[in-house]
Amino acid sequence: MKTGTAISASDEARSEHELTFPARATPPSSAAQVSRASGIRREVPEDQICVLTFDRPDSSANVFDYAALAELDSQLAFIAGNAQLKGVIVASAKPSIFIAGADLHALANASSDELLRLVELGQAVFNRLASLSVPTVAAIHGACVGGGCELALACDYRVATPDRATKMGLPETQLGIVPAWGGSTRLPRLIGLPKALDVILGGKTLAAKQALRYGMVDDLVPRERLIDYARNKILTDGIGLRKRPGGLRRRVTNNALVANLISLRVESQLLKKTRGHYPALFKALEIVTKGVSRSREEALRLEREAILELAQTEESRNLVRVFFMQERAKKLNYLVGDAAERVKPVRGAAVMGAGIMGAGIAQWLSARGVPVILRDVHVEQLAKGMASVARLYEEGVKRRAFTRVAARAGMDRIFPSATDVPLSTADIVIEAAVEKMPLKKAIFARLSQLARPDTILATNTSALSVSELAATVKSPERVVGIHFFNPVHRMQLVEVVIGRETSPDVAQRAVRFVQQIGKLPVLVKDSPGFLVNRILMPYLIEAGHLFEAGASVEDIDGAMLDFGMPMGPLRLLDEVGVDVADHVAETLAGSFKDRFETPRVLSQMGKAGLFGRKSERGFYLYASKDPEPNAGLSLFQKGDAVRDLAAEELQKRMTLLMVNEAARCLEEEIVVGPADVDFAMIMGAGFAPFRGGPLRYADSRGVENVVSEMNRLAEGCGSRFQPCPLLQRMVADRKRFYYEGEGRS
Ligand code: NAD
Repeated sequence: MKTGTAISASDEARSEHELTFPARATPPSSAAQVSRASGIRREVPEDQICVLTFDRPDSSANVFDYAALAELDSQLAFIAGNAQLKGVIVASAKPSIFIAGADLHALANASSDELLRLVELGQAVFNRLASLSVPTVAAIHGACVGGGCELALACDYRVATPDRATKMGLPETQLGIVPAWGGSTRLPRLIGLPKALDVILGGKTLAAKQALRYGMVDDLVPRERLIDYARNKILTDGIGLRKRPGGLRRRVTNNALVANLISLRVESQLLKKTRGHYPALFKALEIVTKGVSRSREEALRLEREAILELAQTEESRNLVRVFFMQERAKKLNYLVGDAAERVKPVRGAAVMGAGIMGAGIAQWLSARGVPVILRDVHVEQLAKGMASVARLYEEGVKRRAFTRVAARAGMDRIFPSATDVPLSTADIVIEAAVEKMPLKKAIFARLSQLARPDTILATNTSALSVSELAATVKSPERVVGIHFFNPVHRMQLVEVVIGRETSPDVAQRAVRFVQQIGKLPVLVKDSPGFLVNRILMPYLIEAGHLFEAGASVEDIDGAMLDFGMPMGPLRLLDEVGVDVADHVAETLAGSFKDRFETPRVLSQMGKAGLFGRKSERGFYLYASKDPEPNAGLSLFQKGDAVRDLAAEELQKRMTLLMVNEAARCLEEEIVVGPADVDFAMIMGAGFAPFRGGPLRYADSRGVENVVSEMNRLAEGCGSRFQPCPLLQRMVADRKRFYYEGEGRS
């Protein structure tokens, strides 16, 4: 990374000299003067309105790193020194990105000093933009987020296209930091404190129309008129663009006293929601509410101090790693080189079974433009499945994820069928029928007759052997597991399960298909429970054991909420279905007898019809809007040995079993490395993201400490706590799962 402080006068002079190139792009008028350095094109036509077009070379995105900021600074120096100019338009040449924000690789790898210089430079450059004597307009098409949004906020006026690609927001808090290139200072001044807190604390990215409603954008204009509109705005309103009166409401909410009251209320909501985790949220609240009644310089100082402090935290490091892991999954390949590139997109699919998962998968595929045959043996199940697809679309329309027309078109892409139909249009078939091996085998045998020889045959099984299923078809190399999580429309992770015979080509096609439909793949070996369920199950089972031994529903779930899980384990059992969880636990217990012992409470609840949310009764009662613990369940408790166990001890018993199973998966090479385990557990099971996943958590506790705790628990509570050989070896060899710098960028 380049170092140095804000651009000096001599730098400005040099860059002005270097920036003057002969015209490359077609200028708006024959007399236009065009200059271009590496990433920003400058055009100055006869009307003297300067257009700066961001176009980072060899990249589909514009991002800000030190060099890009320095280049912008040079361009602004040219503008400031050119008295004839009447205004500035900032635009982008990329098809779907305005400016995507800071270059996170540069940010993640920066030392404190380097980070400070980067932040100072960004603030100085955006201040320079805001202080130009001519009016400035951001002409936004595509993603305008993070630093891109902060640049737009430093302009006098913002005009955007209403396109789907156009989004505006400040997602920094999701990475454990705060907007520090002026975003935390300028947004509340523009739209008022309450709305600014909503955007910044929510880490929100708003669609164009929403951004208009929030006041982050001033006008929406079709893409082909964007630049002309911005130009006319400057010519007609001139510097008047800047002197727009602040709304009364904004003046009231940004007053120090009111801001303080708002801050107290929001802080108590945050504490409830996060249980004190996610320090960036509290810091952002503090600096935004303090900043509104201070000078701009003071507010920017608060931003700088906050980001420097937060970037050092383990929470932020882990959240940035999660971001990189997601990016990695988007680009994952099974094959290398041309073979990976040659894979064609899926143009048609079939789903066998219209139950919870089948209907969810069909809806997701149809919404991503893939026509789907949805097959079920029961007409009434098919009708139920289609009704749930319609409901998902309806909810999507309400959330503005789809327009009504797009939802209708999506529904029309699903062809329900209660009888066998030819599957010649399907490039992939996904079996999502009942979790019974004989039934699935019969389906696969039939599929090898109905589908084309090159069609991928995939199963969504949770825990059955993909290789055993594959053995029932003539060409087992085309069988693969594609394991979606429930609910399909919310869970981004998909396990791609490679059976013994799965061909590399089919594995690559399966990975590409998962990416095509906007999900994140993780490659796993065919083994009982695959990866996520296998690691999650000991945790859920332990929650059941603790309940049986006298701990209350509130204490067990409360302890894990305190740990940072989005939902307690007993509540999760209710959501999954107590019967379904019991079945998966029994299947795993068949394979791992030494340590998976299903608590009786699960089968007892099943017999009593307490299936969880779907029967409105489980560990909780769901009759009212806020589910309450089911007091009647105390019938199934056997004594009170752990009734008074401290939250920390409850956490240890549940989380260390996950760590142990995760290490076993690594040991058995179910996945390639620790980052796969951590990524899958965060994305597939909601493992507290700020802790970085179970293996990163083990590292932060210290593997030695994990092993000694487990040995203690094994003595007192049973052999299931016995640390696995890999963990023991790691202690002996003084090893960790990760080493410094690994997984940062
Ligand atoms: P479900 O019971 O809701 O649906 C199964 C459907 O399959 C039913 O509608 C049934 O009529 C249909 N079916 C039965 N025989 C059929 C056949 N021969 N051809 C076509 N359809 C047939 O089950 P589900 O929860 O949707 O689970 C489906 C699969 O997905 C299972 O293998 C399960 O393990 C797996 N899975 C479930 C979840 C979950 O949380 N429910 C999560 C991930 C994976």
